[in-house]
Amino acid sequence: MKKNDIVELTITDMTDQGYGVGKTSDGYTFFVKHALPLDRVRAIVTKVKKNYSFATTKEYLECSPCRVTPSCDIARACGGCQLQEMSYEKQLEMKTQKVEHMLQHIGGFSQTMLVKENDTISANCIPIYPTIGMEQPYRYRNKTQLPVGRDKNGNIVVGFYAGRTHEIIPQKDCMLADAMCPSIVSAVISFMTQYQIAPYDEKTHTGLVRHILLRKGYTTGQWMVCLVINGKTMPHCDSLVSALSSIQEITSICLNINQEKTNVILGKEVISLKGPAYIEDDIGDLRFQIGPLSFFQVNPTQTSKLYQTVLSYAKLTGQEDVWDLYCGIGTISLFLARSAKRVRGVEIIPQAIENAKENAKRNHIDNTEFFVGKAEEVVPAIVANGKCQTDVVVVDPPRKGCEEILLQTLLRMDPKRIIYVSCDPATLARDLQYIVQKGNYEIQKVQPVDMFPMTEHVETVVLLSQLQNRPDDVID
Ligand code: SAH
Repeated sequence: MKKNDIVELTITDMTDQGYGVGKTSDGYTFFVKHALPLDRVRAIVTKVKKNYSFATTKEYLECSPCRVTPSCDIARACGGCQLQEMSYEKQLEMKTQKVEHMLQHIGGFSQTMLVKENDTISANCIPIYPTIGMEQPYRYRNKTQLPVGRDKNGNIVVGFYAGRTHEIIPQKDCMLADAMCPSIVSAVISFMTQYQIAPYDEKTHTGLVRHILLRKGYTTGQWMVCLVINGKTMPHCDSLVSALSSIQEITSICLNINQEKTNVILGKEVISLKGPAYIEDDIGDLRFQIGPLSFFQVNPTQTSKLYQTVLSYAKLTGQEDVWDLYCGIGTISLFLARSAKRVRGVEIIPQAIENAKENAKRNHIDNTEFFVGKAEEVVPAIVANGKCQTDVVVVDPPRKGCEEILLQTLLRMDPKRIIYVSCDPATLARDLQYIVQKGNYEIQKVQPVDMFPMTEHVETVVLLSQLQNRPDDVID
């Protein structure tokens, strides 16, 4: 086997990164780009390793029944959507299987069960419910970040990074983003062209405009335009404001200062040019202020379903002391607060905690308390002080999951229920294994929610309950 060889393969599986998996008759594995389970393809070998190779599809000899025509004409070149060529029904099925696979192989939980309608669930299995999907799985995002650069001819381009690179594919629209985005992007490009404002050049660390960040309040219709700049000020910013003000829905225009040589999109400082440096949005009957730096779930339709699942798993009666760790702007905290005695939230970003406190006030919720800092530092310190009555803990960490010290502390807090909300099933499975092995908990149920249709990502909510009989309590 060598590079540029042609192989014919039937695809039998798919990796988490969206490659089709095909094997030759003697068991040698290929990871094939643009191939889905049950496609039969002719592919060209692109990289050879000892036990496996990579290849790219050149021709479909037979198409998989789940293959569909993608909605976006740059679906393949762009790095954003890995699954646009797969029917949505199949995407949901695959995400449920992915969660099961991680629980089994990383978590070591062999007794999982993929629940189908009307199934009876036996006592000692872990039920994984079908992934909750969307009716309209496109144009769901309330936030879009577009890099700004130049093409070979020196023209300003705004678009999306090509898969795993920093090359910008010019494209103002995205099928996952709101249909308003292209007109806002065009207004920014015209302004930059007219006043000769240079886009940022990563290689030379020169130029001004790095990214355009757009945020929309799904229920309020308010828009934020935030330009991320490699500088302290924007020349001709009055003209920028007046150009954007012709789009009525834009209620907040701001700058974010990022002068670092970094891949990280946003810097820490925000300067408001027009309106407040936040927009507002509702989840259920709660209203939230959202600043450019704060995390807010990107798929509002699914966020309600996600939080409803958390609320139902929490089984609150009004008497409970609840912790919401990694709370962002306090969305889950406030969603649970009206049904609990008290909710305490912990979050690392100071501006998000400011938003959280403001959000509690505006919604007339007075039984919440918020702490700034790393969950793995703040919570152990509070528990060490001894004042920590806890009935329910919700954790919603970023992809890397929870630090071990936090999990240890969680067990010491001894809550009746732990609800783990995760955007990465691999670290979820690792952390669940720790909780179940070292603590006195069992997994009651697992509910994947599709927050990110067309992409490989899946969100999962897991309910862990304290076992009734502690090992020490059992009398043989
Ligand atoms: N529960 C919130 C936010 C979840 S995203 C919601 O549903 O909107 C994860 C959050 O964890 C982000 O707001 C991020 O800023 C925060 N975070 C990341 N690392 C953290 C840490 N070590 N301690 C506390 N918060 C952290």
